[in-house]
Amino acid sequence: MLLKRLLPICLIVLVLAGLIYLRQPQTDGQVSRTALIMGTVVDIRAYGEDNKQLEQAVTKAFEEMSRVEQLFSSHIAESEISRLSAATESLSLSPEVIRLLQMGQQIGADTSGAFNMSLGALKDLWQIEGEEPHIPSEQELSAVLKKTGSGALTIVDDKVIKSKADLKIDLGGIAKGYAVDRAVSVLRQAGVTSATVNAGGDIALLGDKQGRPWRIGIQHPRQTNDLLVTLQLKDQAVVTSGDYERFFERDGIRYHHIFDPVSGKPARQCQSVTVVAADAASADALATAAFVLGPDAGLKLLEGLSNVEGLLVSADGKLMKTSGLPE
Ligand code: AMP
Ligand code: MG
Repeated sequence: MLLKRLLPICLIVLVLAGLIYLRQPQTDGQVSRTALIMGTVVDIRAYGEDNKQLEQAVTKAFEEMSRVEQLFSSHIAESEISRLSAATESLSLSPEVIRLLQMGQQIGADTSGAFNMSLGALKDLWQIEGEEPHIPSEQELSAVLKKTGSGALTIVDDKVIKSKADLKIDLGGIAKGYAVDRAVSVLRQAGVTSATVNAGGDIALLGDKQGRPWRIGIQHPRQTNDLLVTLQLKDQAVVTSGDYERFFERDGIRYHHIFDPVSGKPARQCQSVTVVAADAASADALATAAFVLGPDAGLKLLEGLSNVEGLLVSADGKLMKTSGLPE
């Protein structure tokens, strides 16, 4: 009897609480949402006066990131990148894909081949992210390295020519950054002036936070709950490549997802590299490349590029920074 009387009251309380909860983002000038894209949790936060506008902009930004995933993912059989991997000689691709491939090629050339978009077969062999990762023998490695190669793609207009038929393309080191850039661009076009897009450590910042720079904490590669530094940034991108992101351990050795294209094994000289640049695609590729090059050559590379800053942690835990890092 008492339960019967209490039930409608409980329902009303629940509905009111729900309404208050739903209205909350409307009142504080912030829309914050997450989605799973490119195998990563993507978090978008947009700030402004008009919550309806922010909501619509954030929806469009997520749609744009999914569109980019459809173009570049090697897990999607119909993506342009999967079709390029399947092609035996050459393939005509859309201008957008050509542009990102050209950017990756340029960064490959600038980093003595440390950034290499042809490591798909190597990634398949190691299965670092799979259920059953595999430590390959030297024979397996040398066989699979024959299916990779720096400068393995030639681009003529809209046509990509492969130097080998079994070359498998993998844009895992740059596409997430590009997707983040596209999300920011869509937010900007929709009239948003203040936002952050974070795809598992690939971060792009639109504008600032109420007149002040965003404060971005960079994770310590070994003490997961600690920060290495806090960076103060606006209208920039900051991307970290770390050996703690995707890895497995066997006999006390850590095997992670960033490969040295020469040895075909996980690059051993760094624990993490963070790059600050104007756009997330460049920062993404440069972080991967500097990680492979190691702390000394990596620092030299980043220091030599204009509008690029960085932070490197060597394998023995030493912290190195470029001179203009905005802490
Ligand atoms: P990131 O987390 O941005 O450093 O990128 C790592 C991902 O990029 C890996 O999961 C691979 O898909 C790909 N990758 C690994 N090694 C390299 C490399 N040397 N150059 C370019 N991409 C790489
Ligand atoms: Mg990268």
